[in-house]
Amino acid sequence: MVKTDVCIIGAGPVGLFAIFELGLLKLRCHLVDYLPQVGGQLSEIYPKKPIYDIPGFPDILAGELVDNLMKQAEPFKPSFTLGERLESIERLEDGTFELETNEGSKIFSKVVVIAGGLGCFAPRKPELENLSHFEGKGVAYMILDPEKYRDKKVVIAGGGDSALDWTIFLANVASELTLVHRRTSFRGALDSVEKVKDLVAQGKVNLHLNSNINELHGDQKLEGISIIDKDKNINKIDTDYFIPLFGLSPKLGPIANWGLNIDKNAIEVDVKDYSTNVEGIYAIGDINTYPGKLKLILCGFHEAALMAQGAYKYIYPDAKLNLKYTTVNGVQAF
Ligand SMILES: Cc1cc2nc3c(=O)[nH]c(=O)nc-3n(C[C@H](O)[C@H](O)[C@H](O)COP(=O)(O)OP(=O)(O)OC[C@H]3O[C@@H](n4cnc5c(N)ncnc54)[C@H](O)[C@@H]3O)c2cc1C
Repeated sequence: MVKTDVCIIGAGPVGLFAIFELGLLKLRCHLVDYLPQVGGQLSEIYPKKPIYDIPGFPDILAGELVDNLMKQAEPFKPSFTLGERLESIERLEDGTFELETNEGSKIFSKVVVIAGGLGCFAPRKPELENLSHFEGKGVAYMILDPEKYRDKKVVIAGGGDSALDWTIFLANVASELTLVHRRTSFRGALDSVEKVKDLVAQGKVNLHLNSNINELHGDQKLEGISIIDKDKNINKIDTDYFIPLFGLSPKLGPIANWGLNIDKNAIEVDVKDYSTNVEGIYAIGDINTYPGKLKLILCGFHEAALMAQGAYKYIYPDAKLNLKYTTVNGVQAF
């Protein structure tokens, strides 16, 4: 159970910058993100791409911007629940909020800030008859703790960066590692493809190209999979884990059920302070909509600054709030 001033749903760039703006006003933050790492779209979709429209940085790699935002937030000691989806928000009698994740983690908070971007990144799943039966019993779509796979047999499916990177990483962790890909060429970075080929040559990875997963086997838990190649040959592989890494697609998900005014998959806000129609709940970044909205990181940063002032006034309605420059006041750590 976590108790905090502000619960921020979404640890993308905008949620991360909100920690800083709220921290300047002495408000403590807890962040929840469904992804296993912080950074939202920047970490998940384009960590190695340079961004050219962050003020003060002629160019900066998306991953580097995320590192910098974490450094900037550090003095305010934010806490995180990663790899869990925020499912429900309930208002308690005293006006504060009780939030719960899909894993049952509870957060008690005075204010809620939704910085959920395009929504939850939901895994793209292969179409296999008994897939859901083995979810959590051998089938996983994200690797939250690589140690779980130590000395286990693992099959990864996919041909993008995620499949290649995890194949390289788990080659020295799993007792037996197999990569299955439906084509002969990969979509991922060339140097990762070369590394995987080296591991195959060293006998550390079994590679099956031009192959699809055909069937999952097991009873209470996964025991094996069958793959089928383009000549219709079927090959059975014993395995403890099957991890299809076919990418993630964003879905608004549970946010749609929280009583907020939604327009075309985005939350309507008042641009005065980015408050929603529900008192005490704010929405910033790609998740919100208002006339003239631009889905840009720098716009999300501006929204975070105004939201912080609004959230402070909501929590302390009688307190006087004066804008203080950081050059004058510095950054007062918690
Ligand atoms: C390829 C590409 C290039 C881009 N280039 C630029 C650029 O050059 N300049 C620019 O300004 N912008 C660029 N953008 C857009 C920019 O990435 C977004 O504007 C920015 O990521 C929005 O940040 P955010 O924090 O609002 O949301 P996101 O980065 O989307 O993060 C939201 C987070 O919320 C989480 N989440 C959602 N719902 C829940 C829930 N219920 N429970 C738990 N977690 C949840 C998600 O998992 C996600 O991690 C680009 C986007 C793409 C895809």
